Amino acid sequence: MRNYTTQMDAARKGIVTPEIEKVAEKEHMSTEALMKLVGEGKVAIPANKKHTCLNPEGVGSMLRTKINVNLGVSRDCKDYGIEMQKVMSAVEMGAEAIMDLSSHGNTQPFRQKLTSECPAMIGTVPVYDSVIHYQRDLATLTAQDFIDVVRLHAEDGVDFVTLHCGITRKTIEQIKKNKRKMNIVSRGGSLVFAWMTMTGNENPFYEYFDQILDICEEYDVTVSLGDACRPGCLADATDVCQIEELVRLGELTKRAWDHNVQVMVEGPGHVPLNQIAANMEVQKTLCMGAPFYVLGPLVTDIAPGYDHITSAIGGAVAAMNGAAFLCYVTPAEHLALPNVDDVKQGIVASKIAAHAADIAKGIPGARDIDDKMADARRVLDWDTQFACAIDPETAKEIRDSRKPDDEYSDTCSMCGKFCAVRSMNKALSGEYIDIL
Ligand code: SF4
Repeated sequence: MRNYTTQMDAARKGIVTPEIEKVAEKEHMSTEALMKLVGEGKVAIPANKKHTCLNPEGVGSMLRTKINVNLGVSRDCKDYGIEMQKVMSAVEMGAEAIMDLSSHGNTQPFRQKLTSECPAMIGTVPVYDSVIHYQRDLATLTAQDFIDVVRLHAEDGVDFVTLHCGITRKTIEQIKKNKRKMNIVSRGGSLVFAWMTMTGNENPFYEYFDQILDICEEYDVTVSLGDACRPGCLADATDVCQIEELVRLGELTKRAWDHNVQVMVEGPGHVPLNQIAANMEVQKTLCMGAPFYVLGPLVTDIAPGYDHITSAIGGAVAAMNGAAFLCYVTPAEHLALPNVDDVKQGIVASKIAAHAADIAKGIPGARDIDDKMADARRVLDWDTQFACAIDPETAKEIRDSRKPDDEYSDTCSMCGKFCAVRSMNKALSGEYIDIL
């Protein structure tokens, strides 16, 4: 029988939960040090008590940077079998979290399958599911309907829910007055905004925040405070709508922590490279060090088809400056629902960004694998190089498809006889080097 509600509650009471123990071990940290951070809200361990197959992870800027993969069916791509395949390959490739953004059909069986079979953290956005769940138009839904869907997701074992609590009726005026180029690009944020304008009511996730916190506390669901006003283009970055929402997210963070509910704060969006570090600093200050979960940031608007790259550049800089959690972006971003290959490309790009940031931040042990790779490269040990690679399959496929002549089979076809590594090894060991 648990004598605590959430991981935060346990940490504050000095109770070492199995999740705290596991995360401390993974992060090479003492349970005492980790509990202090969880108790203060600087690390979240999203772990719904009903997600029993979860392999828990900690999310915090002083820990290894985690990545999230968005999946789920849409009206045009509605095969849950394919989505489940993507989930399992995402986990194999190292995704620590899966967000189910399904927006078509009966979503509950897929969600329940995720929390009964998938060891990664599972996140959802209840506002998407509200329309689907009730099969009613948005304007006919009541505040209670939305709250009931949050409860449904909590009961289904979801570890974190994105709630767009930060926009209020004041935001409607701000969006109209400030004439952003891209208005609101957050799917959940646009739904909440549309519901407010159609019903004339206040944002239910803001108005009934305490009621929602009771549910989150009961199941230990981490609140991911959604950034409805994240910039959808460089021109909108760091504007009054984004920052004003962030101020409110900071206030809501404090209220959640008062309920022992764990929090992550979502962040931008499209942001010029030179503004990313400042964005991270502002978030850390306004949200008192709560883990920052960034959606990109995408550093240019002009690369559809390659936004996994624009996002990895921004993600690396963001994580180096304090973001804890990167939401992957695939080459299909802005264009279509990602297919299996897009998902792979997105994960690889995010893993590179996260790893590069971890090395820069000096996360203990983060560079060990790079040093192992360098040793393998120096001795032309190809199998070890593949084993160290973020994507061994692609690395092996490229080498195998373009191997050098047999005589130089320890090198690669890039330089062949002119292989610098081989020449240096021979020169240093006093051997004769035959180039011609
Ligand atoms: S052939 Fe050139 S690229 Fe290939 S391993 Fe040798 S030095 Fe590196």
